[in-house]
Order: sequence, then C-alpha cells, then structure tokens
Amino acid sequence: MMLQEVRVAARSPSTFRPYANPGLLRRLEAVASRLQGARVLHINSARSGGGVAELLRGHVALLRGLGIDAHWQVLRADGAFFDATKRIHNALQGARVEPTVGQWAAFDQVNRRVARAMDARRWDFVVVHDPQPGAVLLQGARRGRAKWVWRCHIDSERPHRPVLRRIQPALRLFDGCVFSRRAYAFSLPEPKRAIMAPAIDPTAPKNMPMGLAEARRTVARFDVDPDRPLLLQVSRFDPWKDQAGTVQAWRAARRRVPGLQLALVGCSADDDPEAASVVAQVERQVRGLAGAFVLQDCVDDRALKAFLDCASVVMQKSIREGFGLTVAEALWAGRPVVGGRVGGIPLQVRDGREGFLVKDPAEAASRVVRLLRDPALAARLGRAGRAHVKRRFLLPRLVLDELRFLAALGDAPAARRATRVARRPRRRSRSQDHPTVVSLP
Ligand code: UDP
Repeated sequence: MMLQEVRVAARSPSTFRPYANPGLLRRLEAVASRLQGARVLHINSARSGGGVAELLRGHVALLRGLGIDAHWQVLRADGAFFDATKRIHNALQGARVEPTVGQWAAFDQVNRRVARAMDARRWDFVVVHDPQPGAVLLQGARRGRAKWVWRCHIDSERPHRPVLRRIQPALRLFDGCVFSRRAYAFSLPEPKRAIMAPAIDPTAPKNMPMGLAEARRTVARFDVDPDRPLLLQVSRFDPWKDQAGTVQAWRAARRRVPGLQLALVGCSADDDPEAASVVAQVERQVRGLAGAFVLQDCVDDRALKAFLDCASVVMQKSIREGFGLTVAEALWAGRPVVGGRVGGIPLQVRDGREGFLVKDPAEAASRVVRLLRDPALAARLGRAGRAHVKRRFLLPRLVLDELRFLAALGDAPAARRATRVARRPRRRSRSQDHPTVVSLP
C-alpha cells in the first residue's frame, strides 16, 4: 500500500473560542460553509516527527470539524527514496547537493506508484506537502475534477538551481502553490500562489497549560534540576537546526552563569535519514560536561510542555528554517526565544520584542546571559511572544487562509457543488471574499 490514511477525529471550531479572535472564527465558519462536504486530501511523507506532521494533525481535525470531508494520507517508501528527498530538501534550502541518478530514479518511481494508488475521482482538492510527493502529477496521477495544490514548507529563499530546474516541471502542473514567506516563492506566478505562515494548535497537548509543580516533577524525571536555569532547544536532529551551535553558545554562557543546564530535545522523523549522525556529533560535544541532556525520542508531548515551561530561554539558532513551529510553541509557552536571523524565525521573533535574533553562537551566548541576568526582561519578552502568536500564528487563521485559497482556485467545483447541495445562495464576489495572496508578508 503506497498511501496510508492517518485517521483524525473532527475538532469543533468552538474548541478554539478561548484562543482565537471571535471575528476570525466567524469568517472561518462563513468560508467553510461554502465548502461543506468538499473532499480535501492532504498528502505528505511522515505521520510523526517534524513540523508538517504536527501541522496536519490539528489542521485536518479542524477542517473536519468545519464540515469539510478532509483526509490525511502518508506515502510509504524506503530508504533510497528518503535519501533522495532529503537531498532535494537540502538543495531547496540552499545546499549544493543533488540526488544521484539512482536516487532520482527512486524519487520518480515512488511518485509513479503513489500516482497510480490515488483515486483522483474521490477528491475536490488535493494538497501535496513538500517535495516528497511533489512529482505525482508529472508521474501520471489523474487530475480528475480536483484542484491540486503544492504546499512548500521549506526555506527556499536561495535554492540550488540544478535541483530546482529538475523539479520545476513537476511543480508547474499544480493549480496552485503555497509558501510560508514571500521570499520563498518560486514556481507558479501569482495569482496561483499564496503566502501563508504556518501556525500552531493551541489545543494540542504540547501547547495546553500545565501546572508548574507538574512541569518541575516532569523535567526532574529526566534528571534536569528545576531549580537551576535551563537553556532548551527542541528540534529534529538535523544539521540545519544547528544543535552544534547551540552547544557552543551554552558552553560560552555557562562560563558566565555557572550551573546553566542545556536540554536538546529531539525526535527522528520517519522521512529523515540524517538524525543519527547529528546526535552522535552533539553527544561528542557534550561528553563529560555536567548539566547537558541530549534527549532523543524520549520526550512525549506533555513532557515537552514541561520542558517549555521550565526553560529559562529557548534557542532556535537554525541555519535555515522554513518557519519553525518550535519557535511559536516556545513563545506560546511564554518563553523568550534566541533565534537565528533566518527564514521564518524573524516573522515570529522581532529582535528585542519577543526575544533576540543572533548571527552566531557568541552572540547567542551573550543574549542568553542577558536574559538570565534580567528575569523581568525575560518575562516581558515572553508575554509579548505569547500575544504575538495569539494574533498571528494560531491554527484557525491558517485554516481560514487555506480555505480562502482553495475556494479561490479557479471556480472551485466543490464550492459550486457544495453550495448547490447546501442550497445556499452565492454571496459577494469572489474577488472580495477570496484574496489569493493571503496573510503575512
Ligand atoms: N517536535 C517534537 N518533539 C521533538 C522535536 C520536535 O514534538 O523531540 C515537534 C515540535 O514540537 C514541532 C515540530 O516537531 O511541532 C517541528 O516543527 P518545526 O517547524 O519547528 O521544524 P521541522 O521539523 O518541520 O523542520
């Protein structure tokens, strides 16, 4: 079986009432009412680990709660395919690498199989996430009546051109493309592309409140001392996430703040073959140093929340970062973030307002020390961060953006059919109701 369904229970929009702006929820329900019963398929390549899987879980649940017949399917493939797609991913993020001839063949072959496994007649919209299933149309998937969208989560500001040229013909077959920032947008021209920043689900276990006593007990189970300051990074173990740079920053900061602990919490994604070497590297870096914890695949979502609540500062000093849900999660937990000045991080952390933006480990260390020495500053930035996320990076806003875009793609057949079935009169012109470029700069 090339495609596997991930079952997701519907989540009512009212669940989000305590968090989202009421006007936004009303607009969301209004757009969704025009797409009642529309059959929407999201396809990606990992059911867990990493931002896309995280995003889809809440996203598909809310779509279903809004009366949309949304489904999530994950492609299944072997190591050669994921070696190829990691290279494509890395190349789109600017690394000068290319899949080998054999790896391109594995990429094409898996996409061909996925194309054959898809029943295009079932869907009104198909949203394909990232490059892994990005060649399904080129490899023969029947379009059916569906509108096809390619959703890119990658920091593709400076892609490696040879790889981009190789995948562009596949991506141009889509009816629409979505990027997280305007600077990433290649492929289709406007009005067929939209810009939407990702978002976090405030009702997910990792984002729901936890009492401080429970948080402290939880981190203590991992031998972390809740009475001593803690620098935290939560990321897949991946060279772009620069855990190595975080270790350097921590080593410099602990010279000035004795007792400062470091926790690197990470998981391996199903579609990511690089984790093992990164873990080995950071373990070498911290060997023999007290107060450093490298925690791979052992921190569940509630324990992650405990780490976020007990952290003094959260670090996300990535070298490239499509968006960085981990930054939004940390800000939502009220933590100040020290982040790299790259990709989606500056959307979330404005220097000096929700945290600090830094260029290297030395600067990161000095910002961490400043925050540790000035708890009032840390608390102020943390509060500002939570408010910023509440305004711009919560799930209902993202789902609203997506539904507007889907409805605007052509004269969406599902919108037409669904409106007929629901006997709702058409309202307002599409140009007013459905901007094709939505949300953030
Ligand atoms: N994550 C997790 N456990 C870990 C490491 C990461 O649950 O040990 C989650 C993290 O909370 C976030 C997602 O994985 O929701 C990572 O998303 P992000 O956009 O930051 O990065 P990506 O992995 O997509 O590059």
